[in-house]
Amino acid sequence: MANQIRILVTGAGGFIGSHLVNRLKDDGHWVRGVDLKLPDCEPSRADEFEILDLRRYDSCLLAARGQIDDVYNLAADMGGIGYISASRAEIARNNILINTHMLEAARLNGVTRFLFSSSACVYAGYKQHNADLAPLREEDAYPADPEPGYGWEKLFTEQLCRYYQRDHRFDTRIVRFHNVYGPLGTFEGGKEKAPAAISRKVALARDGDEIEIWGDGKQTRSFMYIDDCIEGLLRLMASTYHEPLNLGMSTMITVDGLVDLLMAIAGKRLVKRYDLTKPQGVRGRNSDNSRLLQVLGWQPSISLEKGLEVTYRWIENELMTQKASEIRPRQERSAQASALVLA
Ligand code: NAD
Repeated sequence: MANQIRILVTGAGGFIGSHLVNRLKDDGHWVRGVDLKLPDCEPSRADEFEILDLRRYDSCLLAARGQIDDVYNLAADMGGIGYISASRAEIARNNILINTHMLEAARLNGVTRFLFSSSACVYAGYKQHNADLAPLREEDAYPADPEPGYGWEKLFTEQLCRYYQRDHRFDTRIVRFHNVYGPLGTFEGGKEKAPAAISRKVALARDGDEIEIWGDGKQTRSFMYIDDCIEGLLRLMASTYHEPLNLGMSTMITVDGLVDLLMAIAGKRLVKRYDLTKPQGVRGRNSDNSRLLQVLGWQPSISLEKGLEVTYRWIENELMTQKASEIRPRQERSAQASALVLA
């Protein structure tokens, strides 16, 4: 293929990384995936997949070897608000190591373009006290007051990318994701985010049951479906824009609204029990897409209703498959036990 390029995706065993690898393969590129683990739900389509710990500099040099054109640096220690509130030192340390080492290893290996995945968690906390806040523009990250731990590290690495751009003429891109959701994402174990966690709770509940909601349900966010996220990533990489850029939906919904949508999709009526002791993050957050539209001439458009329907059905199916595989060995064991007794 004439315009095939060689691409490294770090974090290729994770949610956004595994979708990105699929899209890059569909587009005909050569792809190396790197992660601490293989993808949880389906085999990777990457041409090469290497298990490497990117906190180590030698692993980063290995990951970026061999005439790689583009790096999508998605590897990170991250999770939902419960996880990032509880593990600040570990998250900050792990991600500082991954990002500083990956930037330097990519530069020394002659990589052409490097994309860093930042987050809406860089935005200043004091600008997010109201549920109906104005959408956040890129400049609202300063004066700095990001999410402790995770957000500070993202903000620092954004600066590091700018320094590499300035001092080394290294061609970097910085994307600020706002809550991405979709199939293949983590939905249990403590690292899952709100759409996946609520989908799981709704799927496991019986009609009329009670489900636990973190906070009072009035906090607001915007949610972007994974296909829009991947499209935006490719468009940003193809652009020449080096400054941080929002990538998210610009329509907000309350957590209550999110739960109501999922109940409607599932056809269940459930009682919400609010737990105010659980971490909730900022009160409100939304993406201002003016610059995104200006730079890329495009913005995400897949509706929450449509995206959540696909995501909910996928999580419901995963839970059913898990349950079936738990029951099967138990039945097989009891069949074997009866056979022994009969023998
Ligand atoms: P994810 O947790 O599904 O994927 C991250 C991957 O990085 C995981 O597979 C993990 O194993 C891997 N990883 C962690 N430490 C590593 C290490 N030391 N060496 C190698 N691999 C390592 O997360 P995701 O949702 O796919 O997020 C991808 C990127 O986007 C991350 O940088 C994240 O901070 C950022 N982001 C995501 C969201 C979102 O809503 N999903 C929002 C804002 C920012």
